[in-house]
Amino acid sequence: MAVSEQTVARAASLRDELNRYNHHYYTLDAPLVSDAQYDSLLNELRAIEAEYPELRTPDSPTQRVGSAPLGKFPKVQHPVPMLSLGNAFNADDLAAWRRRAEQIIGTQPMRYTVEPKIDGLAVALTYINGVFSVGATRGNGEIGEDITANLRTIRDVPLRLQPIDGQPLPERIEVRGEVYLPIEAFNQLNERQAHAGEKVFANPRNAAAGSLRQLDSTITASRPLRFFAYAVGPFSGVDLNSQAETLNSLRSYGFSINPDTRLFDDFAAVVDYCHEWMGRRELLSYEVDGVVVKIDDFAMQRELGVVGRDPRWAIAYKFPAREETTTLLNIVINVGRTGKLIPNAVLEPISLGGTTVQHASLHNADYIISRDIRIGDRVVVKRAGDVIPYVIGPIVEARTGNEQPWPAPTFCPTCGQPVEQLADEVDIYCINNACPARLIRSIEHWVSRGAMDIVGMGERQASQFVEMGLIKSIPDIYRLNIASFAGREGYGDRRVANLLNAIEESKQRPLDRVITALGINGVGTVAAVDLARYFRSLPALAQATIEQLTAIDGIGGSTAQSVVDFFSTPANQQLIAELLALGVQAEPGDVAEPQSDRLAGKSFVITGTLPGISREAAQALIEAHGGKVGGSVSKKTNYLLAGDAAGSKLAKAQSLGVIVLSMDELYALLADS
Ligand SMILES: [Zn+2]
Repeated sequence: MAVSEQTVARAASLRDELNRYNHHYYTLDAPLVSDAQYDSLLNELRAIEAEYPELRTPDSPTQRVGSAPLGKFPKVQHPVPMLSLGNAFNADDLAAWRRRAEQIIGTQPMRYTVEPKIDGLAVALTYINGVFSVGATRGNGEIGEDITANLRTIRDVPLRLQPIDGQPLPERIEVRGEVYLPIEAFNQLNERQAHAGEKVFANPRNAAAGSLRQLDSTITASRPLRFFAYAVGPFSGVDLNSQAETLNSLRSYGFSINPDTRLFDDFAAVVDYCHEWMGRRELLSYEVDGVVVKIDDFAMQRELGVVGRDPRWAIAYKFPAREETTTLLNIVINVGRTGKLIPNAVLEPISLGGTTVQHASLHNADYIISRDIRIGDRVVVKRAGDVIPYVIGPIVEARTGNEQPWPAPTFCPTCGQPVEQLADEVDIYCINNACPARLIRSIEHWVSRGAMDIVGMGERQASQFVEMGLIKSIPDIYRLNIASFAGREGYGDRRVANLLNAIEESKQRPLDRVITALGINGVGTVAAVDLARYFRSLPALAQATIEQLTAIDGIGGSTAQSVVDFFSTPANQQLIAELLALGVQAEPGDVAEPQSDRLAGKSFVITGTLPGISREAAQALIEAHGGKVGGSVSKKTNYLLAGDAAGSKLAKAQSLGVIVLSMDELYALLADS
């Protein structure tokens, strides 16, 4: 049966419309229609193509779902080799690269493009008369593999180029770029793989490579791969003279271009931007392992040429590695204040991001077992930003057979009592309230600086006093006296007097510090201040209802629930009664009454060593004027209060455009308004 003209036209218009919606959704991040509307149009096109297969064009959005599995990938010869890049690791390397370029082309004015180096897989996409026809991996640079069907499933790879106003599309153009997997998608994929007993990927790049080299393109289609275009290979029928112009044209053709690409006239600005990127990499939703600096002008690029495989006109400024492999020597378990069993990896020491790492988090028992992490395994360890280093997973291929699977603990390693795992929780708990490990952690927390701040008592004393039998509960801290230490080695009169003084003095800590010290789930120093301000005494807080609690700005439903749970537990009621009877004051104190609302609605983060004031006091000052103090810098942070030796938080604040204040500037802010 012949296809009617109407059907041909409808199929063409559906293709255009769907490709356009797709571009707005994935590349521009600005959807034009709902998912349901999109699906309904796609189904209409599918139905037409099922009836008239001759209408199924290579640029049809229906082709994004993948097609029949291949036996193997055909090889593709790259018409112009895909080059690699030389590396720079510091400003000196960058300067040396520029000097070498100047020795060839002279000291004429140069412009530079700087682009983040996405940690993914380089590919080359060939478009003939605007239609995507062949896509290949980089391979060895000369010969790659034809993975066209797989690349077609990536939503921000245009199947057809959009014409630029009034200009014909290039007859032929090879577009080069990076296929990558966003970090969130990578984590979700690994979670699924682990629970299905499948291989866990070491990093997003491996996961992207594994997804892209599937012989069954429907598997590729199920992985949310993305694509950034960054260069062109051979082209004809179009005029491109610089990298910046090329990126603009690629954007107009419908490609995703990295939004952080910059063009500079000044080399010093290039070096600054490279440094700035070190802090910024933590904020992206995808992995970057450096930045690429290119001399912008194509005529200069041709003059500079290539040495070996590396172009002289481009260089990769590489960031320090954040991932390494090492041997997992042992898994030890710490018991937390709440009884949570926390497994930790003991590693053969490795250098990671500039420091030596020999311990890493393993999150929880479920994590270890679902990933089949064994003692003796070669493991991949990651350290990113302020996050504690953690084990990503084992390198199964490196196993020798001597690795020991790790059995989930059934008894607490400290008190020997049976442990418990709730049905839908990943953590295992020691539920013995008298567990010495839990008591020691509770004491450590109670005496810590942000809580009751008892000078002379720390981790060491907490375990000593528990072992000596001097402390069996938190109130016992306030029952210590001179007689407790009689005849104890290392506890002379002076030391004991100082300690007892510090304990006595801590009874005056204001209510919010006592609330913090209680260690209620979800109640940190900020929430404690809110609760103290509102309830003004421990007995009042103990009577609080969920409704009252959630009415307070900053207290969410789960925190409210844990406050109510805490005070309804008889052991905790007993604890409060004893503390009050022993003379712990828990008065509202200064911080409970705001002094002004000059900082109302403003959120602060504090970093570094402040001149003449402790961080706690600075926080109290900000809060007394209605401001909030948080732990990490985000787009919502208004001010970063920075002292000496400010580190990654400062870099992060600068890259986000958060205002950075000195202590003097904070005082000025309070004085002026
Ligand atoms: Zn225990």
